[in-house]
Amino acid sequence: MSEENIKLLKKAGLKITEPRLTILSLMQQNQNKEEVTHFSAEDIYKMLLEKGEEIGLATVYRVLNQFDEANILIRHNFEGNKSVFELAPEEHHDHIICVDCGKVFEFNDEVIEKRQKEISAERGIKLKTHSLYLYGKCNNIDTCDENNK
Ligand SMILES: [Zn+2]
Ligand SMILES: [Zn+2]
Repeated sequence: MSEENIKLLKKAGLKITEPRLTILSLMQQNQNKEEVTHFSAEDIYKMLLEKGEEIGLATVYRVLNQFDEANILIRHNFEGNKSVFELAPEEHHDHIICVDCGKVFEFNDEVIEKRQKEISAERGIKLKTHSLYLYGKCNNIDTCDENNK
């Protein structure tokens, strides 16, 4: 049980419970993996099962919603997909999503970031936050081969 996470939950005003700590550390363990860092509630539920954790799907949903409200996680509602969650990143990034296999690519482009602020400012808006999602077909041969023929 990590001291850091206990502090993090307390700071977020959440009581320390076993499911909360378990789900939080599971997301952290997967954070730096190349491939998948955006998980649906079902993904997390399955990973917990594989680890022999007995946390029900309803609890997973509840904990994810609480983490979302506490800004520990960010929820994305990618088009045509279920909500996915990722740990709140330290630096902003945007997403490209493959509409076929659901693979998520992250990017951060200075020019796009700058232009969004300028376009908002031209309309008298001080930009606070934004979500930019691009949708396409990736070139993953295993899952998306059909689309590239
Ligand atoms: Zn794909
Ligand atoms: Zn992301």
